[in-house]
This record gives sequence, C-alpha cells and structure tokens, in this order.
Amino acid sequence: MLPKYSTNLRLLWSHIAFIEQTSKRGGSQGIKMILALVLASFLAVVSGDSACTNIGGSCLDWRYYKCTAGYETGLCSGDSNRRCCKSCSSSCLSDENYWSSNSDGSCTGAGGECKDDSNYCNGHYASSMCGGPSDRRCCLPHGTGGGGSCTVRAYHNNNFVGDPIHVEDGFRGAMDSINSAAGRCGVKVYITHSWRKLGAVIGGAIVQPASNSNHLVGHAIDMNIQRSDGSLCNGDCLQGQWDNAANCFLDEVIAAGLTWGGVFNDPVHIDDRYNTNLNRYYALRDVVQAACSHVPMT
Ligand SMILES: [Zn+2]
Repeated sequence: MLPKYSTNLRLLWSHIAFIEQTSKRGGSQGIKMILALVLASFLAVVSGDSACTNIGGSCLDWRYYKCTAGYETGLCSGDSNRRCCKSCSSSCLSDENYWSSNSDGSCTGAGGECKDDSNYCNGHYASSMCGGPSDRRCCLPHGTGGGGSCTVRAYHNNNFVGDPIHVEDGFRGAMDSINSAAGRCGVKVYITHSWRKLGAVIGGAIVQPASNSNHLVGHAIDMNIQRSDGSLCNGDCLQGQWDNAANCFLDEVIAAGLTWGGVFNDPVHIDDRYNTNLNRYYALRDVVQAACSHVPMT
C-alpha cells in the first residue's frame, strides 16, 4: 500500500510543476495570483479528506490502487472514484501475506486476484476462492477461468466430503450457506453430484435429470448427510426426517433461502431455484454448457 498522504503529496508536486512551467513561460506578472489559487485549491482538497485521514486512511482513486484493508465511500473530496483506503496494520499485512502464500490458489489458478471486495474489479467477484474473511473474494476478470467465459469452477469448504464439487460462480454464496448450516448442526455434507453436462448419463442418480435441472447451470447439489460418527443419512433417511442432526441441517438450508428437494420427492437435492426464471436459466445454461465442457462432472 502507498504511504499515507502520498496522493496529496503527488498532487502538490504536480501543482509545483505547473507553477514552474508557468513561470518559465514568462508569466511573472500573474504568478502570485496563480500560486495563491493553486495553493487554495490544494488546501481545499486536503481539508475535504479529513474524514478519511482522521481514521488513518488515504484518499485514492479506487480504480488504480488496490487497498488491502478495503475502501470506504463518502469520506473523501472530489468525484466518486476518490475513496478512503483504510489503513492496513502490521497484523493486517501479515494476514494478507499468509493468505496470498497459502490460501489463494483456487483464485489465482483461475486467473483471478484475491482482495477485499470493496476494491474495484473489472469483472466479477466469486466467494470461497480466497483465504481470510468472507469479504476477501476473488476478482475474476472478464473472460478468465480456463474456458473462455466458463464460470463453473471447483469448490472446497471444510464441511463438504465425498465427490469433488463444481458449481457456477452465482451459486458459491449458497454453498457457503450450506457449509455454515452443516457446521452449526455438527454434520458433514457428503456430495454425490453437482455440475452436470447436457446429455450425460448419471449413474446412481435417484431421479432422471429434469430437463430444466439446476445441475445443468451448476446451481444444485445432491448429497447425503454424514453424521459425526461417519455414518450416512441417505435419501430415505432425509425424506423420512429420521435424523435430528440432518433435520437441523435441512431447516438451516431452507432458512438460508434455498430449496430442499424433499418437497418434490428428491430428498438428496438442494438448489437455489435458479430455473424459476426460465429466461435467465436458458441464457446461463447456453453459456456454461458451451464454455465449460472441460469441467469434470460429479
Ligand atoms: Zn439433484
């Protein structure tokens, strides 16, 4: 990060350069006037930033500077691109170094950059691809991800076991909610299916893939619940609601705004109802089915 006040210093140097240039051109008559005006405008900018500098921050153009501790809006003078970059303490810096060395691989491997999501991103943010708190996310530039515009990627989290998971970027937040629900109920989510390709044969699936399945856009998972003793609550157990920990998990998933497939006799299934709007569903399905053929199916 840049040292505090560096923007203001840069601004002052540019003003001085302007004054020197003006005097070389022989404008000695009005030089005092120009000097006074320039200094007045400089001081106005500096004093207008005090809400930011008072909290130890620096006003920067957020489009050009990555701010490790994150930006706050409304604390800086000038246009809306000048934002307050909060100060990053030594522990903030060491956390950042640790995460970037140890925890950011799935983001950087996909061509993205991990940063606080108050930073500018010329693309879109995806969750659960970076170390650190939930607002430290992966900025994926347009057209990255190893498959043109493919937005279906591997997902990992501590309460998931079973098959490798691949979901679409728009479902990663739902996966975070599912992971949290499992943690609160003391269970693991044993994954059997997630992303599917059109026309593929699904071995072991309980139901035929619906023609407008959310699996085809990476917005659904099929799972069993793994209890703390390692045993599984399978489809029958989930549908019959025999297991208190599994019931706790399903209640939490529903409370998070997701749909449990038990309401349509598919008790191993969870999705976010992406297909209830068929226009957006078909639009996304066309894109990811074409762009993500390299992404393995589970
Ligand atoms: Zn399913």
